[in-house]
Amino acid sequence: MQTTSTPTHCPYCALQCGMNLNPTPEGGVEVAERADFPVNRGALCGKGRTAPEVLSSRVRLTSPLVRSGGELRPATWEEALDRIAGAFSRARAEHGPDALGVFGGGGLTNEKAYTLGKFARVVLGTSQIDYNGRFCMSSAAAAGTKAFGLDRGLPFPLEDIPKTGCVILVGSNLAETMPPALRYLTELKENGGTLIVVDPRRTRTAEQADLHLAPRPGTDLALALGLLHLVVAEGRTDEAYIRERTSGWEEARAAAMAHWPEYVERITGVSVPQLREAVRLFCAPENAMVLTARGPEQQSKGTDTVSAWINLCLATGRAGRPLSGYGCLTGQGNGQGGREHGQKADQLPGYRKLTDPAARRHVAEVWGVHPDSLPGPGRSAYELLDALGTDIRTLLLMGSNPVVSAPRAAHIEDRLRSLDFLAVCDVVLSETAELADVVLPVTQWAEETGTTTNLEGRVLLRRRALTPPPGVRSDLEVMHELAARLGVEKGFPTDPEEVFEELRRASAGGPADYSGITYRRLAEENGVFWPCPAPADSAEPEGRAGVEGASALSPSGEPAPGVRPGTPRLFLDRFATEDGRALFAAVSYRAVAEEPDDAYPVLLTTGRVVAQYQSGAQTRRVAELNAAAPGPFVEMHPRLAERLGASEGDAVAVVSRRGRAVAPARISRAIRPDTVFMPFHWPGEGRANTLTNPALDPTSRMPEFKVCAVRLERLGQG
Ligand code: SF4
Repeated sequence: MQTTSTPTHCPYCALQCGMNLNPTPEGGVEVAERADFPVNRGALCGKGRTAPEVLSSRVRLTSPLVRSGGELRPATWEEALDRIAGAFSRARAEHGPDALGVFGGGGLTNEKAYTLGKFARVVLGTSQIDYNGRFCMSSAAAAGTKAFGLDRGLPFPLEDIPKTGCVILVGSNLAETMPPALRYLTELKENGGTLIVVDPRRTRTAEQADLHLAPRPGTDLALALGLLHLVVAEGRTDEAYIRERTSGWEEARAAAMAHWPEYVERITGVSVPQLREAVRLFCAPENAMVLTARGPEQQSKGTDTVSAWINLCLATGRAGRPLSGYGCLTGQGNGQGGREHGQKADQLPGYRKLTDPAARRHVAEVWGVHPDSLPGPGRSAYELLDALGTDIRTLLLMGSNPVVSAPRAAHIEDRLRSLDFLAVCDVVLSETAELADVVLPVTQWAEETGTTTNLEGRVLLRRRALTPPPGVRSDLEVMHELAARLGVEKGFPTDPEEVFEELRRASAGGPADYSGITYRRLAEENGVFWPCPAPADSAEPEGRAGVEGASALSPSGEPAPGVRPGTPRLFLDRFATEDGRALFAAVSYRAVAEEPDDAYPVLLTTGRVVAQYQSGAQTRRVAELNAAAPGPFVEMHPRLAERLGASEGDAVAVVSRRGRAVAPARISRAIRPDTVFMPFHWPGEGRANTLTNPALDPTSRMPEFKVCAVRLERLGQG
């Protein structure tokens, strides 16, 4: 056990706040302020502050469980691993490799995400791997890649936000999802900048705005097109920038001009004067940014919606310039890194395309296999889950709880139950683990070393501060053991730094190039922004060095000669497209997949609350967080409540074409009268994702979490 304070990072959201873990007399750890990490400068939300509670939770799993006679019972690691290997071998023999599925998570470290992708393709030989990050930022990733040739959530550090002139924040409630980041917006306003928030609800973040636009859920695309129409009509485009740094403008311009402000007002409910005011505020300063999050992204037209916001940045000359640009606020702890290292259905490490022959050759060489042995792209997350029990017979699931977090969750729960065999690695018996044939208890963030990549593209080192409890093993050990049982003795190390060294080689030359990053640099420099290639004149310039040893920094604190700095700001000289120009997308408005009608007359939108994280598997086990947010609710406007005859706290059934959820009414003027809101952190009868619509974006394959049609029934007094 450590006897001194250990600097590390929070296990939860994409801000990856810095914190110190101090040993306690009882042998555990407690959180202490870590002011030297620039992202949060010591500030933490309640989730980060209480994170150690899950480490010593009495519901923590410390023994493998295997299903026997219909019940889960404790078992040895040998028995549990043998069962998994046996089930996977049988399924492969009977149905072929694509009958084996793998589902990962955006909270896994880079080392685990990398190893999981390699495990699926090299050991199992399956193409059927994807992860829950598909449900998070895939639309922004698709739109960013199209426009800029490269997707990195924020192409600039958070510290640039207070120095810009105007921020349009679209579909993000930072005050609840990552509270320490709110200070960037506060400082923006203190510096004289303006904040425009786009959200159907007047959230705590929207309350900070100079202008709050509350469009009808699912109409952000029309809103962005209407703003671009006004930018053109009012002569506010940056013609020199468009000429020199972009292509595709004429088509995008023509598409936007079909979206007259009055038409946009009818679709969105945002008035023409408000649209004009937004354009005035956005165009007045020299610099401005658009930041999107799940609101516009989690739609069946999420990619087009983000493209429309990017178009607005490009038409006004805001991208690829200092203190300006478009960025996506990734949600999960390693939502950025999780999509770069190969656990995504269509990607290889280094953010390479699985269909690119050169990428396949490079990665196959690092892995010591023939390129032709690597499978092609598999199904996206929802499609993979939907195929369970039919085409996919067995599933290995790591770092995810789809019974709560997947759209149309009751159906996905049925699919999981229909599998021949389900293996789950987790720290507690999550709702998904409860369905498993084998559950493996794994180490947590403070018990293992590894790297994550935060929403800025800053690669960070999480350090081990605690010895794991007996009976628990790391995900890397699990994959090592399973690989050996399935006939692959080498190539699956259990030491995270050894994995990272291989990841560096696999990523070298790719869009997300980590080859110049080492654990020692991460420790010394408080993180390094990718891309960070190794110097061209040295194959292994810095090599494996742990976090001790000779410094990679010069006495001035800068990277030493021969050590490449990372890249905090992208696209300043050129975009990452072939011709260096950003590409406009000609997009037009289309309606949501499920419009309200007589049977389902109200819109449902879903989201998060400050005291819970994602499916709540960890945070629902923390007493303080549970007391603050004990269960779901249905937020509705007083006018809607009056029509329903509901008072505060009354039980309300929310019914969609996919199922029914029940939760108490919470009456608030902060939401539009045509819309209700439910947070999605809970299982059982209040599970919001029972209701959500799995209609997929054609490009990103993102389900439409953010809007569907429902009807309401008042059930009884609260
Ligand atoms: Fe952790 Fe996010 Fe809270 Fe920071 S904001 S303490 S990273 S959950």
